[in-house]
Amino acid sequence: MKTLSIVVPAYNEEEVIELFYTKVKEVLNKITEKYEYEIIFIDDGSTDNTLKILKKLRENDKNINIISFSRNFGKEAGMYAGLENSSGDIVVILDADLQHDPENIIKMIKYIEEGYDTVTTIRNRKGESKIKAFFANMFYKFMSGNKETKLKKGSQDFRMMTRQVVDAILELKEYNRFSKGIFSWVGFKTKYIEVENRKRAAGKTKWSL
Ligand code: UDP
Ligand code: MG
Repeated sequence: MKTLSIVVPAYNEEEVIELFYTKVKEVLNKITEKYEYEIIFIDDGSTDNTLKILKKLRENDKNINIISFSRNFGKEAGMYAGLENSSGDIVVILDADLQHDPENIIKMIKYIEEGYDTVTTIRNRKGESKIKAFFANMFYKFMSGNKETKLKKGSQDFRMMTRQVVDAILELKEYNRFSKGIFSWVGFKTKYIEVENRKRAAGKTKWSL
């Protein structure tokens, strides 16, 4: 039996976190013969009921782990803490707002089983405002100036990796982490899959333009 770790950074997600859990469990139920799981929620200093809801969920599911930050440190710090505390043979990071459809986990696992070290999702920017798409494109262009960290346009933090990749990432002790760059820089055999650009299931984005 292998273990899958699911790392979920969450900041003020009281409106969606329980639904997220339900959806993820539905997916996990399809792979229970082959995989045990742990869900690591990183409560990034939420000021709403996120932590309270997570604690309640944990009462009925011993596979839930909660890391709770003393204040808001940002998603990058959350992802790092999640990776650092994960123990799975395979680790997947995804957002709490269901913009990263958990259904894709099944497909991602297949590629890992086929021999890929990491599976990265690429989203099309359909349905996004023109101005956000414009700045996002500029960002990828600019960040890809450094040849060693070529970023694939549209790549997002919804990705799966083997233990070997996670350990390589954790070796890097950058202070101001930019995970997309780091994930790409460490290399490894990567499979890119295109996913649909979904809207948040509930709650509000934490990112300003
Ligand atoms: N998030 C976090 N800390 C923050 C901001 C966001 O942990 O300071 C989490 C958030 O709860 C969500 C994910 O990071 O699970 C992506 O955030 P958001 O949906 O606000 O960004 P967007 O999808 O709009 O780019
Ligand atoms: Mg979002």
